[in-house]
Amino acid sequence: MRLFGTNGVRGIVNQDLTSELALRLAMSLGTLTRGTVAVGQDTRVSGNMLSHAAIAGLLATGCKAINLGIAPTPAVQYFVRDNADAGIVITASHNPREYNGLKLIAGDGTEFGIEGELAVEDVYFKGSLKLADWRETGELSDTNVIPAYMESIMGKVNASDIKKRGFVVAVDTGCGAGSIVTPFLLSKLNCKVTTINAQIDGTFPSRNPEPTEDVLTDLGKIVISNGADLGVAHDGDADRAVFIDEGGNFVNEDVLLAIIVKHVLSKKVGPVVTPVSSSQRIVEVAEAAGGHVIWTPVGSIYVARMMMQVNAVIGGEGNGGIIFPEHQYCRDGAMTVAKVLEIMTERRKKISELVKEIPKRYMDKTKVTCRDRDATMQQIRASVEGNIDTTDGVKIWYDDGWLLIRPSGTEPIIRIFVEAETKRRASDLLEAGKQLTEGC
Ligand code: MG
Repeated sequence: MRLFGTNGVRGIVNQDLTSELALRLAMSLGTLTRGTVAVGQDTRVSGNMLSHAAIAGLLATGCKAINLGIAPTPAVQYFVRDNADAGIVITASHNPREYNGLKLIAGDGTEFGIEGELAVEDVYFKGSLKLADWRETGELSDTNVIPAYMESIMGKVNASDIKKRGFVVAVDTGCGAGSIVTPFLLSKLNCKVTTINAQIDGTFPSRNPEPTEDVLTDLGKIVISNGADLGVAHDGDADRAVFIDEGGNFVNEDVLLAIIVKHVLSKKVGPVVTPVSSSQRIVEVAEAAGGHVIWTPVGSIYVARMMMQVNAVIGGEGNGGIIFPEHQYCRDGAMTVAKVLEIMTERRKKISELVKEIPKRYMDKTKVTCRDRDATMQQIRASVEGNIDTTDGVKIWYDDGWLLIRPSGTEPIIRIFVEAETKRRASDLLEAGKQLTEGC
C-alpha cells in the first residue's frame, strides 16, 4: 500500500486526508529524522488543522519543530536547505479547494525522492514509531522565512538594471501563498504593481489554484487596461509562475521554459534538464546555443536530482515550474518572475517579442482509461520500433514530431502527449497514440 502519490500525500480534507494521518506521518518522519524539522503551509482553509497535527507529531518524537506559517513551497525549501534536517509543506499545490496535502522536504531542500518516501511509509504502516520520553519531547519556535527568501532572489538577478526599467506588472496570485511574496518582490524591483486575488483566502473565491489560461482572463484584461508590460500568475503554493504578454495573451509554458533556457545558455553553456513530456523547442533552443538536453521522467524531483548530478545550468517543466540552480534545486515561482524581468531588461524586448523568437510547434494531449496499465505499456513497448525513448513510458521520435505514452502514477489511466510542426500532424499523432492504447 502506498501513501505517497506523484506529489506527496494528497487528498480531500477529512475524507482521505485527516489530522490523524498528518500526525502519524509527521511521527514517522520524526522517528527517522530526530532533528530539526520546519513546517510551512499554503493558504488552504485546512492548513492550520494539518500543520498543527504535523507539528504535534514531530514534537512527540523529540524533533525540534519550526513553524514557518504561510509560505510558498520554495520559500520553505530555501529555509530547510540552510536551517533544518527536513521539512513538511502542507499544500495541495494546484489542486481544487477541497484538497490538501503533505509534501516532505529533504535536508538539502529538495523534495523527498521515492527512497525517502518508502522509508517513511515503512515506519507509518509498521507502526514502528519511536516516541520520545516526556523530558525529551520537542521544542517549538516560529520563524518568518519570507524576508531572507526575497533577499536571496534579489541577489540572484540583475536587480539594479531591472529597477531602472520601472516595469508595470499585473499580478494574480490566486489567493495562494505567492500573495505574500510576489507583489512585494516586484515592488522591491521598482515595478508598478497591480494585484488581483492577492488577499490570502483558502476558499479561493475567484479562481481555482491551477493557473490555466481560461481562469486568467481577468488578469489579461487588467494587463491591457493598465498598459502593463507583463501579467504574472502563480499556482496555490507558488512554485510555478505563468505569464501574460502585454497584449493580454497567455504565454505557453513550454515557450516560457525555452525563453529562459535561451537566456541562461547565452551566458553560460551547460546541460539543460527537463522531463520527456517537454517540448522539442527546448532542444532546438539549447542546441542552437551550444547546450544539450538531458531527459528525465515526469516529476520535478527527477529534474532537480538530475540537475544536481550533471551540474545543469537550468532545468524545469513545461508547466511554469522552473529550477534555477544558482538559487536552489526546486521549482520557484517568484524566482521565475524576477528572472523573466531580468531577461526583458537585458534583451530590451517585450515579452511578446521574446515569445516570437521561439520556434512554433503544436502540442496536444489526451488520456484513456485503462484496466491494466502495466500490461498495456508492455504491449506498446513490444509493438513499436524506430527511435524509442523509455525514460518514462514510451516516447517515439519521428522526423517531424514525437508521441509519448505514459501511465499515470496515481489513476487507472494512460496519458498520450504529442508534438509536431503542424497542427494536422499533431492530431494524426494523437490518433496514432489512441490506436496503440485501444482496448487496454
Ligand atoms: Mg505547486
